[in-house]
Amino acid sequence: MAQPAVQALEPAERRYTTDPRGAAEARVSRLETRLAEQGDEDKLAALGRLRERLVDDIAAKLVVENGYDHFVVAFSGGKDSVACALQLLKLGVPASQIELWHHEIDGREGSALMDWPCTRGYVTAFARAFGMPLYFSWREGGFEREMLRAGTRTAPIRFETPEGQGSAGGTNGPLGTRRRFPQTSPDLSVRWCSSAIKIDVGASALRGQERFYGKRTLVLTGERAQESSHRAHYAYFERDKADAREGRLQRLVDHCRLVHAWEEHQVWGLIEEYRVNPHPAYRLGWGRVSCAACIFGNRNQWASLRQVNPAQFERVAAYEVEFGATIKHKLSVVQEADRGTPYPDMKRKDIAAATSHRYDEPIILPPGAWSLPAGAYGDSNGPI
Ligand code: SF4
Repeated sequence: MAQPAVQALEPAERRYTTDPRGAAEARVSRLETRLAEQGDEDKLAALGRLRERLVDDIAAKLVVENGYDHFVVAFSGGKDSVACALQLLKLGVPASQIELWHHEIDGREGSALMDWPCTRGYVTAFARAFGMPLYFSWREGGFEREMLRAGTRTAPIRFETPEGQGSAGGTNGPLGTRRRFPQTSPDLSVRWCSSAIKIDVGASALRGQERFYGKRTLVLTGERAQESSHRAHYAYFERDKADAREGRLQRLVDHCRLVHAWEEHQVWGLIEEYRVNPHPAYRLGWGRVSCAACIFGNRNQWASLRQVNPAQFERVAAYEVEFGATIKHKLSVVQEADRGTPYPDMKRKDIAAATSHRYDEPIILPPGAWSLPAGAYGDSNGPI
């Protein structure tokens, strides 16, 4: 099949761009015009088939050629964050420049309400396997302490840095009461977990480190349009929350959703290409991996969690009783689980891997050993 010729980027196009997708669109349009003028129908047809992918590839190239000093990937260990990190590598960003930032959902003060026990070990093993720096950050007490606020302030944020540990907040914020689970809404003001436990934590860690002053930083997150109509409206590229380029600190921070236009098969395709062993929860049947007890879980997921980690499930269920309010609109998680069916074929060794606080498996599998996990293309119950 005839392939359209993709020329190297013009020097003028390598300049910093604030609209990489628009610039990529314009570039592909110019190529289309040229092929039409040349009457090259075969290449024009081939370009038509590849158009979306080509625009995406060129936009990604324009982004990484913006001359960033730091690339910060919000790294949950789920497939889309893995794809972001791998795609940066593929685009030629040195591994040593790709920082993986993992926000610990349950914090480090003893809570084990929401997260997969193995996630910390998994992201650590991934960073080591690819030689990428890894920094943890968390809100003290994690999700559980934030949920239990009763006339109190939100807790301080802790974050690792190359020099040690930093902290932010926790002293002046308004007093407030939650005492209920976040609402399953796209509105982050009521679905407070995403903002309080992840987004604000990352922004505070950026604002709290002098190494970002006077530098260009790119933050990457893995939301994809295919996941929900709400996410489809997220911008591919925009200023990050922590940006202060015009301020005294000259901290330029851009935010790119590098895989926003990708379909799920592209994500798994890249993971397979690098032979990355996915997070164990995918083998159990979870289609999205962040919190094991994600509030967006459907009845099969709650039934599965009850089987995989009964203590964690019971703790969530007990809070619903204590608050007199359920996560879902009508049914409690117990009622949901009773109506659901655990994922078929959850193997004992995979349950052990997901619920272990250690991660002992290889991250890069030997040639021929990679296979699509059971959760791929399955239930995708996660933030909308
Ligand atoms: S994975 Fe679910 S429960 Fe966890 S922070 Fe995100 S939306 Fe909230």
